[in-house]
Amino acid sequence: MTETVNASYDVVIVGGGHAGAQAAIALRQRKFTGTIAIIGDEIYPPYERPPLSKDYLAGAKSFERILIRPESFWSERVVSLLLGKTVVGVQPDARHVELADGQRIGYKHLIWAAGGAPRRLNCQGADLGGIHSVRSRADVDRMIAELPGVEQVVVIGGGYIGLEAAAVLSKFEKAVTVLEAQDRVLARVAGEPLSRFYEAEHRAHGVDIRLGVAVDRIEERDGMASGVRLADGTLLACDMVIVGIGILPTVRPLIDAGAEGDVGVRVNEYCETSLDDVYAIGDCATHRSSYADGALIRLESVQNANDQALTVAKLLTGTRDTYDAVPWFWSNQYDLRLQTVGLSTGYDEVVTRGRSADRAFSLIYLREGRVIALDCVNSTRDYVQGRALVVERAAIAHGILSDPALQLKDLAVDRRAAGLPLG
Ligand code: FAD
Repeated sequence: MTETVNASYDVVIVGGGHAGAQAAIALRQRKFTGTIAIIGDEIYPPYERPPLSKDYLAGAKSFERILIRPESFWSERVVSLLLGKTVVGVQPDARHVELADGQRIGYKHLIWAAGGAPRRLNCQGADLGGIHSVRSRADVDRMIAELPGVEQVVVIGGGYIGLEAAAVLSKFEKAVTVLEAQDRVLARVAGEPLSRFYEAEHRAHGVDIRLGVAVDRIEERDGMASGVRLADGTLLACDMVIVGIGILPTVRPLIDAGAEGDVGVRVNEYCETSLDDVYAIGDCATHRSSYADGALIRLESVQNANDQALTVAKLLTGTRDTYDAVPWFWSNQYDLRLQTVGLSTGYDEVVTRGRSADRAFSLIYLREGRVIALDCVNSTRDYVQGRALVVERAAIAHGILSDPALQLKDLAVDRRAAGLPLG
């Protein structure tokens, strides 16, 4: 029996976030003339997620200003936005996806760009009112609506998103406490000196940072969170809880359809999954990275979403270029702009350039004497110039890297020009 489909497109993109939007944009930029549909379960056209914990939460940017493209762009470029629709199944043999409303949408090429869903607390009280994630516009709008009645906020998770939200809410003069299970904030993504710097900054702004603590349960009053009870019995009274403990990639329909992967969907250097003509990009895609010593990783960044989208757009327009872009990321907290390049995981040495007391400095991470990453705080010049050192995996002595009189750009060797191996 042939299954009927309700509509078919040459390219179906599941997920209207950074990666999905950028894939459609790049396809049209590269003169792809086939039909394209983006299926997204949010009701909004594609928007930028980073401002959600920064300027959008702070009220400094309207929703229109965080749209990835003006609304008219999509119809002008003939990209069909099927919004408010959730893909629940993939039939790779029949080449269609199934929506929660029962519709089937056929594809020639399927780009899976479904991102991830926030990890939820797994304790008593986790479903009470007043507990928020920071992943979507809807999440943040709900939070903003509650804020006028809120005095005390507990942020669970000392990662970038939790810390950014804490910075904004402390400016709103809320009493903010950040709870972190590890012995330092940003433990998963940054070196210890950076963690200690941000802990001190937050404390100086009145944020109560508590390290090495475990949440036992959320206390309730009239169906709303009224406090966070720690494992040692301490009660932190609050009227709002923000949970920033990471995401779980949204990959179930694709894995059920037979794609290789587990926590993320496994892709090769062209972002191809193990299923024919099915690609995965962005937060949900696990790939091997030369910047992680060839390890399988998943990156959660705009850079990764955009560059993987471009890789697939190139592939579908006849250019087979591998994805090997240098990872970069940023975070804004108070008047501090952090810019990172490379991946510091596995570093065995950190060099500090400049003084953290000046609130403008860089940390340069090395492994076996080679530069693998930089974290630059209010030091855009180091960030821009240090990129070449990361790409080269430059071997440079500690004393030279830390010398602020020397510019990083003067330390980079053009390895190609010098006929030296890259990496
Ligand atoms: P997403 O942007 O999450 O898009 C996925 C879309 O797919 C979502 O709209 C989702 O609802 C939809 N979807 C999921 N499942 C389905 C389904 N079954 N059917 C249909 N649609 C579905 N990165 C940086 O580089 N710098 C930053 O400063 C930074 N700050 C951030 C701050 C916040 C608050 C957040 C949440 C993220 C931040 N990031 C930052 C990370 C960055 O936003 C993500 O890496 C990026 O959004 C990933 O893009 P994506 O398209 O893979 O996923």
